[in-house]
Amino acid sequence: MKTTVKTIEGSRQGLFIGGQFVAPMNGRYIDSFDPTTGERWYELAEAEADDVGAAVSSAQAAFRNPAWRRMTQTDRGRLVRRLADLVLEHADELADIETRDNGKLLKETRAQMRAMPDAYHYFAGMADKLQGETIPVNKLDMLNFNLREPIGVVGMITPWNSPLMLLTGTLAPCLAIGNTVVIKPSEHATASTLALAELIAEAGFPAGVVNVVTGTGTSAGEALTRHPGIAKYVFTGSTATGRRIAANAAENLIPCSMELGGKSPHVVFADVDIEHAVNGVVSGVFAAAGQTCVAGSRCFVEASVYDRFVEALVDRTQRIRVGHPTVDETDIGPLALADQLSKVEGYVASGVKEGARVAVGGKRPQSGELGRGWYFEPTVMTDAQNDMTFMRDELFGPVVGVMPFSSEEQMIELANDTRYGLASGIWTKDIDRALRFANQIEAGTVWINTYRSSSFMSANGGFKESGYGRRGGFEVMREFSRLKNVIIDY
Ligand code: NAD
Repeated sequence: MKTTVKTIEGSRQGLFIGGQFVAPMNGRYIDSFDPTTGERWYELAEAEADDVGAAVSSAQAAFRNPAWRRMTQTDRGRLVRRLADLVLEHADELADIETRDNGKLLKETRAQMRAMPDAYHYFAGMADKLQGETIPVNKLDMLNFNLREPIGVVGMITPWNSPLMLLTGTLAPCLAIGNTVVIKPSEHATASTLALAELIAEAGFPAGVVNVVTGTGTSAGEALTRHPGIAKYVFTGSTATGRRIAANAAENLIPCSMELGGKSPHVVFADVDIEHAVNGVVSGVFAAAGQTCVAGSRCFVEASVYDRFVEALVDRTQRIRVGHPTVDETDIGPLALADQLSKVEGYVASGVKEGARVAVGGKRPQSGELGRGWYFEPTVMTDAQNDMTFMRDELFGPVVGVMPFSSEEQMIELANDTRYGLASGIWTKDIDRALRFANQIEAGTVWINTYRSSSFMSANGGFKESGYGRRGGFEVMREFSRLKNVIIDY
């Protein structure tokens, strides 16, 4: 693999269908931009219904193909491990590509790509561990058992913030179990998924087991989610799009697994080391310039240490270095999209209008190169109220709202007063209190004295409007397989 992504001509990328890169049938391409300069980088194919239909047919044929369907579990696991090795070999190239596409810090994308092979190896181990069960039956001389088998063609739609890492947790188990896949990456960060497709071909997966259709949500995405030939949709993205996809899928009674947006609470009690908690809150909300689904963007602080905490948070935030994502010293890079930048600016303005105060940040850096790209200063808003627009909606930017609480009951009420339920964090030395929080918080993940730590070996997912279905751990074996009951009279 070269460090550039596979192109079909000039700077144009093709679709990956049936094991090869092909031009879209309509001949249409759309631009993808470099967020550090706002300039065009490459053109990606704008797939429409015909291309998506071809990709689904290819995946359906691959699902029936004895080369895949009758491959032994051991050999399937071996193939996924081969892909893991190729990902490791090309980890830094994949990181370069993804950082150029979405502006995420190179050191972070490198760390993600270098960790991904372990996840592929873990899920590869599931290939030979998918087991059915025998069940009693109220009659002698009968054998009653459940077969556990792959479900068919899985449609995967991914966002732009960590395309390959987010894909791994579903692609690797799907392949290990024996499903086939059609992936629709975000039009804002497509390149790394196409680069992975090259590695999939090189690993030796039969043609059509993995297909990639690119383009916008309204074209390629809609065509995929209206296609009746899909067995299950796996969506990671915003709640609004998730709602739309679930409605499309419901027309054909196709189940979905949804990992959606969040507005996660960070809770700080007076008994903690303030500096430690500040560092946790800062990395929990400002990582990837606030563009993580779990960003702890609502921060509730026990009233007795509120002033001291805010002072330390502002001081720490002032020292965050905003800069080019490939520079080692940079702490936060640009936002990935121009639209995202105006959206964040709008939310900060609305917060001020509703009575919050910008304690630090709150604007685009003006100087030199940073003024050209889609950068935004890390921002702390004080005097926040939980019902302000910027405290209710997911901003997906480097902005945290801080407010005091005076009792544990009030804190839980505030933390749960959101339509989202993705993640949560608590900073306290009191383990009883931390466990009470874990019991009462309505969120799929609870972090105690840490934030954003994760493992592909545990099942993760959202509550409420943050989604349903689980990724990671053995839970995914159930998500991507189905039971068939067989009864024999002998
Ligand atoms: P988005 O919803 O705008 O887009 C996600 C994907 O859906 C893209 O590939 C897009 O092209 C596609 N899409 C858009 N409209 C569609 C339609 N009508 N039909 C089918 N597909 C369509 O999200 P985004 O801006 O790419 O990503 C940011 C969002 O993703 C945030 O809300 C963030 O919280 C969420 N996210 C969640 C998780 C999680 O694990 N819960 C992880 C990362 C990101």
